[in-house]
Amino acid sequence: MTSPSRIPEFSEEELKHLRLGQFLQFMWPIAVGFLLLYAVFAVVLRSVSLVGGTGAVLVYTLALARSRRLVARGQSERAALLSGYALLVMVALGAIFVHFLFAALVVMAIAGVVLVQPYAERPALARYMFAAFGVVVWVVGVDVLLPPLVEQPPPALQRWVIALAEMASVGLMLRMMWVDALRLRQSLARAEQAVAIRDEFLSVASHELKTPLTPLSLKLQALRRELSGASASSSPERALGHIEMAQRQVKKLVELVDDLLDVSRIGAGRLELHPEKVELAALLREVVRRFEPEAARAGYTLELEAPQPLTAWVDPFRFEQVLDNLLSNALKYGAGKPIRVRLEPLEGRALLTVRDEGIGIPSAALERIFHRFERAVSGRHYGGLGLGLYITRKIVESSGGGIIASSAPGQGATFTVELPLAREEESPATSVSPPTGSMPRLS
Ligand code: ADP
Repeated sequence: MTSPSRIPEFSEEELKHLRLGQFLQFMWPIAVGFLLLYAVFAVVLRSVSLVGGTGAVLVYTLALARSRRLVARGQSERAALLSGYALLVMVALGAIFVHFLFAALVVMAIAGVVLVQPYAERPALARYMFAAFGVVVWVVGVDVLLPPLVEQPPPALQRWVIALAEMASVGLMLRMMWVDALRLRQSLARAEQAVAIRDEFLSVASHELKTPLTPLSLKLQALRRELSGASASSSPERALGHIEMAQRQVKKLVELVDDLLDVSRIGAGRLELHPEKVELAALLREVVRRFEPEAARAGYTLELEAPQPLTAWVDPFRFEQVLDNLLSNALKYGAGKPIRVRLEPLEGRALLTVRDEGIGIPSAALERIFHRFERAVSGRHYGGLGLGLYITRKIVESSGGGIIASSAPGQGATFTVELPLAREEESPATSVSPPTGSMPRLS
């Protein structure tokens, strides 16, 4: 598999943010325009109604200015609430002073509800919705039941202002519908891309799962021939050789299925860690020893440097998995050249480096390879699902650490894992969180 395109990371939160930003961008000139219009008419006509209207629009314009700053700082929820409440204040004041704007004001109040609605699951916003409903009832009540409270401007001007206000309200609604359509199109594009990636993944996964099955079945046939005495050169050693080869293929299959299971557990937030105080150097020595026969078979030298015991709070089974992933990658992509593993303390943290001199990784892929299904090699040359480093990162991060890769094509790769060393009072993490955006960097 060549490296698949990534699912664009548009979260619901980002879409809401985008929508709110567009709303404010659109509302801002309208509010400023109305403010000027009201102010000019209020001065020219000396109308109490228009002075009140100017005050109402001023409240809203100031709130919009503040909301725009909040959105720029990423505080969308606060911005939505502020501009929403200010809209309600404007509509309520408008109902008293600008009596004739009744229809446009109701439309504005509803627009305010639509604006805040994407955030509705939060309690503060539920109260906002309630308030918005109250204001709509209030505006309708004031306009339908009460005579105008203050003297209203001449009818010709009223018609103009109403026409403008209604055009602005309709424009606002159309704009919001357009933003919705845009959002739908983005969601559709994301869904289509996700389906394409899933299909590609299914074909790669089936291929990867099938690959060990062919040698496994051949070895079992050969074993059967050995045991039935059909082959002239049958011997227990040859039979054992076949069994060993078959076991290796079964191990590959088990690892693939385990990776797939881990990824779905991480996705559902169900990958549990059971941290213990673990002496990392001893565990590392044990894992390296386990890898030695395979490394020797493939012509690698495996050097380990772990001069002193270092204790950290990790799940030993999962940390072993981290070491397994890094070492098997070094063996897979290390081009038969020496592999060096080193564990050392650094400022209260344990630093583990696995360095090979193999094919290396292009710099553009150094971050990407820690995400699900991401690979930097062609599937025709190297098998794999692109899951090992993703699982590794999740485990390391959930143990309070971080992982980075440094490399250049053809110059080998170095993977550095950093973990906090254990302190007496520490309470460890217990579960691996579902996928999030970017990878934390080692400082
Ligand atoms: P897989 O090896 O199954 O593809 P991983 O998640 O373990 O999945 O690795 C992701 C990608 O990172 C690999 O496809 C490979 O392109 C790159 N990679 C990982 N380790 C190394 C390494 N030691 N040297 C070069 N490339 C590596």
